[in-house]
Amino acid sequence: MKRAMLHTRDFRWTSISSTLLPRLALAKEKPDSVILGITSTGKANIEKYQHLAKECIETAPKPNDIRLFWNKAGFTRLALIQLGENTNATSVRTAAASAAALLKKNGAKNIAVDDMGHPAAAAIGAALGTYDFSLRRDQLALTQNNSRTEKKDLFGAEPSEPVSFTHLGDETKKDDFHTGLIEACAQNFARSLMECPANYMTSVQFCDIASNVFKDSSKVNVLVHDEKWIDEQRMNGLLSVNAGSVIPPRFLEVRYQGASNADDKWLALVGKGITFDAGGISLKPSANMKEMRADMGGAAVMLSTVFAIEKLQLPINVVFVTALTENLPSGSAQKPGDVIFMRNGLSVEVDNTDAEGRLVLADAIHYVSEMYPTKAVVEASTLTGAMLMALGTVYTGAFVQGEELWSKIDQAAKATDEPFWRMPFHDAYLKPLTKSSAADLCNVSRGTGGGACAAAAFVKCFLANKDDVFAHLDIAGVMNKKVNAWDFDGMSGRPVRALIELARLYAEARL
Ligand SMILES: [Zn+2]
Repeated sequence: MKRAMLHTRDFRWTSISSTLLPRLALAKEKPDSVILGITSTGKANIEKYQHLAKECIETAPKPNDIRLFWNKAGFTRLALIQLGENTNATSVRTAAASAAALLKKNGAKNIAVDDMGHPAAAAIGAALGTYDFSLRRDQLALTQNNSRTEKKDLFGAEPSEPVSFTHLGDETKKDDFHTGLIEACAQNFARSLMECPANYMTSVQFCDIASNVFKDSSKVNVLVHDEKWIDEQRMNGLLSVNAGSVIPPRFLEVRYQGASNADDKWLALVGKGITFDAGGISLKPSANMKEMRADMGGAAVMLSTVFAIEKLQLPINVVFVTALTENLPSGSAQKPGDVIFMRNGLSVEVDNTDAEGRLVLADAIHYVSEMYPTKAVVEASTLTGAMLMALGTVYTGAFVQGEELWSKIDQAAKATDEPFWRMPFHDAYLKPLTKSSAADLCNVSRGTGGGACAAAAFVKCFLANKDDVFAHLDIAGVMNKKVNAWDFDGMSGRPVRALIELARLYAEARL
């Protein structure tokens, strides 16, 4: 009854998906601004602009120095950037991000980007470097019965329009530039999903967005499963975490069938979908708790990865699943000491309600590995604070079962500058979790250290076949810190581009 009433009046139920849907930043109009790269040896990538090289070397003497001109070479704004002696994908991504951010700050709307010999990297740098996040009041007004419609963001500032881009350079490289824009668009989509306040980003909203993203695609099926289905599936991990929330859980299943052979095995993607994590009865401290709106970062990066895979029409079958709920304290919330019987039949004692991610992941991992013949199951989650302690904000911790999968992840990481550090899967980490007198497993171990390793060993127990090729990616550390020039000072959307590259490697291996 309580839920039915909320349905009619609560803004949390009204769609904001049009605000958050990914938008490919491909310019249709004539560019007002331009980025041009010049090497330290005085060579312009584009012959037509060679005459500007001397000016660049003189006024921007060090690599990554930028000189901004007004009304020059046919553009309102011209950014000359010094590239150093040699360029590679990383240096071009950095250069494009820095120059595009500067142009945007100076009012650019439509930027022609010199590909600097690395078209995908130039597009990615420019599109990631100009990202920002705002929810516009006029888009939210309808949902809150608010008659005000002025175009201000929630904080009263004028929202900045997104910048768009055109390719400048060797015409035959145009497609690579477009591919780069798609990948950056996917990462920006993940950033927006993670940034979105939790009162708008609920289990229901997340599914609504997924349905809208793929509504015109003939190769994607979006299945939104409700509480009744979740109950029939015996996903008690998800139901138990959801018990403290007035918003019902959802189980989202997105299938992309791109392989020419319908029997091709699936690349299964699993993401943690806790739309807000207060910790439950084991309440978190209030400092920085607002960041826990991004505890659905795993689901956000996986949905965005499927978005890019579909846009790129990769010849591969991919299924993405996520169990979506909030984790809140209330009179009906799960309690420390509760015992849950999981989908695979194992019983779990909930010693700490803030270790809820592994409970919802356990049911999702078991479901997908039981229902689909998979070539690999790859799961991403903002799972443990211990991961941040171990690797800081630079590396994603990768727990991997299967050498071929690890070699692909490593290759994808190096191609995209989204680094992964291999962490250990070892059954010994599970031992302290089996000490419960009430259940097969406890959801936390105390005083043993290695919290990220114990969590990894826990989720691996729920594979339907214990030898399945499997990766658990703990992205808690890389959730929201600025490391590179193309990073945004907020939720990172990492490691979307590495995951797209991983899918591409699997697709190519098949061909
Ligand atoms: Zn938690």
